Amino acid sequence: MKPLLILAGVAALALASASSKPEVEVAAPEVAADAIYTGGDIVTVNDAQPTVEALAVKDGKILAVGTRSEIEKSYKGRATTAVDLGGKVLLPGFIDPHSHYFSSLSVANQVNVFAPPAGPGRDIASIVAELKKFRDDRRIPKGELIQAYGYDNNAMPNGVGLTRDDLDVDFPDNPVLVGHVSMHGAVLNSAAMRQFGVSAATKTPPGGIILRKPGSDEPSGLLMETAFLPIFSSLPRPNAEQEVSWSRAGQMLYAAAGITTAHEGATHAAELALMQRAAAAGASIIDVVAYPFFTDFDRVLEKNPLGTWGKYINRVKLGGAKITLDGSPQGRTAYFTKPYLTGGPGGEKNWRGEPGFPEDDVKAFVKKVYDLGLPLNIHANGDAAIDELLRAHEFAAAGDLSRQRHVTVIHSQFVRPDQLDKFVAYKITPSFFTLHTFYFGDTHVLQRGKEQAFFLSPMRTAIDKGLRPTNHTDFVVAPLDQMFVMWSAVNRLSRGGVVIGPDQRITPLEALKAITINAAYQYSEEASKGTLEPGKLADLVILDRNPLKVDPMSIKDIKVVATIKDGRTIYTAM
Ligand SMILES: [Zn+2]
Repeated sequence: MKPLLILAGVAALALASASSKPEVEVAAPEVAADAIYTGGDIVTVNDAQPTVEALAVKDGKILAVGTRSEIEKSYKGRATTAVDLGGKVLLPGFIDPHSHYFSSLSVANQVNVFAPPAGPGRDIASIVAELKKFRDDRRIPKGELIQAYGYDNNAMPNGVGLTRDDLDVDFPDNPVLVGHVSMHGAVLNSAAMRQFGVSAATKTPPGGIILRKPGSDEPSGLLMETAFLPIFSSLPRPNAEQEVSWSRAGQMLYAAAGITTAHEGATHAAELALMQRAAAAGASIIDVVAYPFFTDFDRVLEKNPLGTWGKYINRVKLGGAKITLDGSPQGRTAYFTKPYLTGGPGGEKNWRGEPGFPEDDVKAFVKKVYDLGLPLNIHANGDAAIDELLRAHEFAAAGDLSRQRHVTVIHSQFVRPDQLDKFVAYKITPSFFTLHTFYFGDTHVLQRGKEQAFFLSPMRTAIDKGLRPTNHTDFVVAPLDQMFVMWSAVNRLSRGGVVIGPDQRITPLEALKAITINAAYQYSEEASKGTLEPGKLADLVILDRNPLKVDPMSIKDIKVVATIKDGRTIYTAM
């Protein structure tokens, strides 16, 4: 019940106290809102009350939602800020189910070579030109490492990929590392190979790929998966002064995308330590959930006792553990039960991809994580990798296969229908990656055949089976564009104009839930995030148009106007 005549301040308190209705005192001025949002669509993502006219915020939380008159009468005090949405749209802040937050710290200092439309990397010449421009603009001295991100060999004309020779011509003196769009590899020039100790004598490790020059052992440039991991772990990190400023710059990339909770999807011990140092030094703008990687898990657990997991400390939360079972389907390193139609990345015949780690190690790790009672994120793209994770689950959860353990399968891109049934039975949640329908849909049709490619990230089937899938960017694999994520789930249109699995398209509301309330469930934060309901955090985003009302093909053109974390505006578009 709400009082009818409450105005504001002390007068209102007197009124309320004098009222004959005792419940009126609840709405006395001590609950006057800090801000009331009105004047535009307010999309709650709460099925019980899908839209409201007004939302009141107090102390960083949602105080109330309802009709404008109701909310203004009950909660408008003298100090209440009236926020007029001016026809714009208010929604819950986006919750990122999977990306690589730590990469955002350095992206500001790297060259974007994404293929269009996300970047300028349409061919080898454009990539080299971007690298030269970056070197010259920033006057990078000889010897200093130059890094790029977003290189997509599948987007290169005629399938001819970038090599060390292409880079050596203009970069004889600077190590250059052009990161693969999968984040699981890079093309190195000769100076970078010298710096990271890669030569003709370097053996290809199990689960790794080192492309070689024809008829020679000399590496030709691209290193992937386990061959790339040692290079990745020895890449330079920001120094002490840069830690805070780089962290804030990285988080602002998320804030600009309307994201109020970010994900760090494979955290190494040193990276976590840096994140915690920066957070303690006041770097935190948004919440970040980190999943320490299995190679570093014991080291992280040593420094971070179990009791510190699952709660935000300076806005950084240890969400659980992460293990990776295979690579990426576009890089032909995802692990399948049936061969790729196009062979392996190194010309292998009957190539099905390979598991990343020995299965016994995977089983032992999954059991360790389950026994500790921690959530687990498992990267698995190909159906053979998903079979492996199901076997690991059956081993580790023996006797109680269906307990809620908060297991999320990151990507689940080529999950089979029978595997989705097991996800349901075992309470395993898929976090899909529908942006692949746009970026790599045509490639997947060529490499995996139409039938399997059209069941890529099968959101419709998963939802119909009762799952609550989330949907992610895997940033820096794809840009942090939540409207593009929604658009791809709703339309599934490829770069080449093909609808990749028309029967797997979902509604805009379902696509929105995948980046709000379903993601909140993924983090066990549904009580505090994911919908606009009283008592939840005032984590909000304002968009210029309503994604539930526009023509579905225009969802991708919707812009973020402002982002609000705990009631405070942290980003406004210029
Ligand atoms: Zn990832």
